[in-house]
Amino acid sequence: MKTLTVSVVTPDGPVLEDAYQMVSCKAESGELGILPGHIPMVAPLTISAVRLKGEGSSERIAVSGGFLEVRPDKVTILAQSAEKPSDIDVDRARKAKERAEQRMAEKQADIDFRRAEHALKRAINRLDVKDNNF
Ligand code: ATP
Repeated sequence: MKTLTVSVVTPDGPVLEDAYQMVSCKAESGELGILPGHIPMVAPLTISAVRLKGEGSSERIAVSGGFLEVRPDKVTILAQSAEKPSDIDVDRARKAKERAEQRMAEKQADIDFRRAEHALKRAINRLDVKDNNF
């Protein structure tokens, strides 16, 4: 079966590069399923899981937004942060979730509320990716 090279890159460096049969992710416009030969495009991603289907194996990655660039034989994901389940620290994510919930409950200025909301989404996404909970 045909494959495409998937590369996930963050400001801290590359997280993954390998060949897969399909990439599923959540763009701001909705769910996307990318197969080899897809038309070129660029799309902003939400805080969500990226699923990579390979031959007999699959991988999932928690991404904190960023961009997806598609070419017929390659998908590049540029994200502010991206973690495989094995790299996710559950304790840290739980604490981040609690902190964010507290901040949101304190009814601070709008900008702080939105920051806390994003932090909450990142924490929940990490916990969901770790648990394979979708
Ligand atoms: P925290 O408040 O715990 O720092 P955060 O959502 O604000 O969480 P980010 O700014 O998204 O953190 O990420 C900063 C760096 O820390 C990135 O390299 C990211 O991959 C890493 N990181 C954040 N949370 C976790 C986690 N729970 N497990 C593993 N790595 C994490």
